[in-house]
Amino acid sequence: MSLQNPVFIPGPTNMPEHLRRACDLPTIDHRSAGFPILLASARSGVQSIIKSRDAEVFIFPSTGTGGWETALANTLVPGDTVLAVRNGMFSHKWIKMCRDLGLNVVMTEVAWGEGFPADWAEEQLAADTAHEIKAVLVTHNETATGVTSNVADVRKALDAASHPALLLVDGVSSIACMEFRFDDWGVDVAVTGSQKGFMLPAGLGIVAFSRKAMKETEQGGLPRGYFNLQDMATATAAGGYPYTPSYGMLNGLNEACGMLLEEGLENVFARHNRIASGGRAAVRAWALEVCAARPELYSDTVTAIRVPEGFDANRIVSHAETAYGMSFGAGLGDVAGKVFRIGHLGSLTDAMTLSGIATVEMVMVDLGLDITFGSGVAAAQAAYQVGKTEKFLEAAE
Ligand code: PLP
Repeated sequence: MSLQNPVFIPGPTNMPEHLRRACDLPTIDHRSAGFPILLASARSGVQSIIKSRDAEVFIFPSTGTGGWETALANTLVPGDTVLAVRNGMFSHKWIKMCRDLGLNVVMTEVAWGEGFPADWAEEQLAADTAHEIKAVLVTHNETATGVTSNVADVRKALDAASHPALLLVDGVSSIACMEFRFDDWGVDVAVTGSQKGFMLPAGLGIVAFSRKAMKETEQGGLPRGYFNLQDMATATAAGGYPYTPSYGMLNGLNEACGMLLEEGLENVFARHNRIASGGRAAVRAWALEVCAARPELYSDTVTAIRVPEGFDANRIVSHAETAYGMSFGAGLGDVAGKVFRIGHLGSLTDAMTLSGIATVEMVMVDLGLDITFGSGVAAAQAAYQVGKTEKFLEAAE
């Protein structure tokens, strides 16, 4: 009997058995005839998921962080200026990487729980008549706080200022779970990884480049070797890699895209929205607050929940693990100890989510918080009850 509970960390996510098997292949020669077919299929699957007709998709044996580096190192030159917002641990780390790579960062700090302020970006871009700013960095879904920023508004800000800067978007915890419109939003580089919406182990850094971003890769760039996109593009065009690819992971990615497209992207997004709404209903029933400042910022993939003042949120995460064998996300950076996170993305059903809500409820009761057994579960049940979801969503949010 398996004693494995679902995980409720915001990645890596639960792996469907089909995808576990898809990654578990015997050794296959990556120079054999099947490889270019697999690679083309996986690239086209990702393209469909990000809603792009002609983005160039590249898949590195890496993680999302490698994707960030690929985006920066291939489109910018040392000393270039980028515009960024720090609103959580992942936007913070991306900014740190920019600095480590010798870029000049113009940034603003907003409260952790806020989104990307597109009006601030528009002011900065409009004032930059010399077009010193070469790229705008947006973390679509800040996994540390459960905040989704509006990428379309950032595109509008760029257009309103008639500014040519590239739009680089971290979609690590949004792509394949929430609406992501690469073409419509005029995204130049999108970055993601295999271990969240694609329901695979960590191990792939996935990037998509617009034509405009591809053009930038032909010039200069930051010092780079492994992440040289020109080398990758040349090898990809020939149906291969500049080094040894991870055949099993690529097969997993191809199958994951197939599963998501078969479910239907709109159904995948609706499922994530419904599951998240049930989680937020539970938080309200517990009389706790989410970290995201306003409903339009609520993430459909992760909810960060503030605990009462003076209580250490890490105790919830460690007690859940030791007492009930269930993993939740700890608070990171500025909100460490102040929030715990429920990851509700990837391969998850309403019923699985109820098990997470019920377990965290037991944990909070065990730790002496003023929570009534069943309160959060009942609120989530009302959100998930067959035929009631639409009504619930209209009324509740
Ligand atoms: N960006 C976001 C929003 C993330 O949530 C993460 C990881 O959780 C990363 C970037 C870093 O990705 P990776 O851990 O795959 O390198």
